Amino acid sequence: MDRRQLLYGTGIGLLSGVAAHAGLEANVTEDEAQKPQPLSLSDYQPTSMLHARETRVERARHPVIDIHTHITSSVKGVNGVSLAAERRFHAAPEELIPVMDRKNIRSMVNLTGGYDSGLNETIRKYDQSYGDRFYTFTEPCYARFLEPGYPQTQAEAIEQAHRDGARGLKILKTLGLYLRENITSGKLVKIDDPRFDPMWDACGQLKMPVAIHISDPIAFFTPTDRFNERYEELNHHPDWSFYGHDFPTNAELIEARNRVIARHPDTRFIVLHVGNFAENLENVSQNLDRFPNMNVDIAARIGELGRQPRAARAFFDKYQDRILFGTDATPHVENYPQQLFIDALYEIYYRFLETDDEYFDYAPAKVPPQGRWRIYGINLSDEILLKVYNRNAARVLRLSI
Ligand SMILES: [Zn+2]
Repeated sequence: MDRRQLLYGTGIGLLSGVAAHAGLEANVTEDEAQKPQPLSLSDYQPTSMLHARETRVERARHPVIDIHTHITSSVKGVNGVSLAAERRFHAAPEELIPVMDRKNIRSMVNLTGGYDSGLNETIRKYDQSYGDRFYTFTEPCYARFLEPGYPQTQAEAIEQAHRDGARGLKILKTLGLYLRENITSGKLVKIDDPRFDPMWDACGQLKMPVAIHISDPIAFFTPTDRFNERYEELNHHPDWSFYGHDFPTNAELIEARNRVIARHPDTRFIVLHVGNFAENLENVSQNLDRFPNMNVDIAARIGELGRQPRAARAFFDKYQDRILFGTDATPHVENYPQQLFIDALYEIYYRFLETDDEYFDYAPAKVPPQGRWRIYGINLSDEILLKVYNRNAARVLRLSI
């Protein structure tokens, strides 16, 4: 057995094996063929050889309320701060309803409904035209941040949005990571800045839940280097990194958010993306234990939950009344065969929640977009599925279903 056969025979080093194979085809000398050849990370797309069960879950077992979608979004942003009421519409309701019917989605909650005229137009097109299929949340108007009396006018704007039909308030990570004292310049405004207290209180009084996103994967707060588990993602989107500059740490953001939740016990918070710390369920659990007014959604984090299936399953068992189904879906039906993408996206969530399948992709993509790992299903009980799919959201949104 020569060295090349030895590499094949024992499978020593996958990359060495690939290089030896490439060498054979190119008919180069044996010496050269034995040298490991460089392979760019972006070209590396290993195919799993594991024979694992594949269960297709086309429809959720119970009707779904997706608490976290972005059917509309802001048209104009400067340095991460939205400055216009006008909305961009990613998909018409007539395009979404067939997908929703196929996937057993009762309702989609569009978090980024904006404010003023943009909010009203959104509510008219979706909520009011299609009964309970769509619900819209409002957002703060940061363009008015420098106006005198902003804290009070922002609270009044929430009251107006409520009268106009908004179901809750959405806070993007603009607050804490982009909004500055002069809106787009100066010092960053902290999440627990008291100027927002009247806004949080108004939500509590009106029983409008606050869906709050304040941070990002912990890897976004560390250098984009060879040790970063989300290197490819950050390399692709360098502006997603919050490492360095004057950005707060992930821990500082979470502490500031916790102070807001503690200071407003009558306001109900949906802390998005598994409490913005899906990599550390112990931390999320501690906060859920501390704050009865805190709930979480699972949007865009089944990659995290599914790589720790035993801890995730225990988390769902313990907090089964406070976890809401969400995906972060942003439908762009006009751009590409998004219908298929949305179908595949929902099916992965259902497979994760409903089966005990092993080692499957957490996203419909060739290379896992958030990091190179795969996930395992957690096979929730029927009772917990019902709560996560719709009961918990119905309670938070005060729907009778
Ligand atoms: Zn989102």
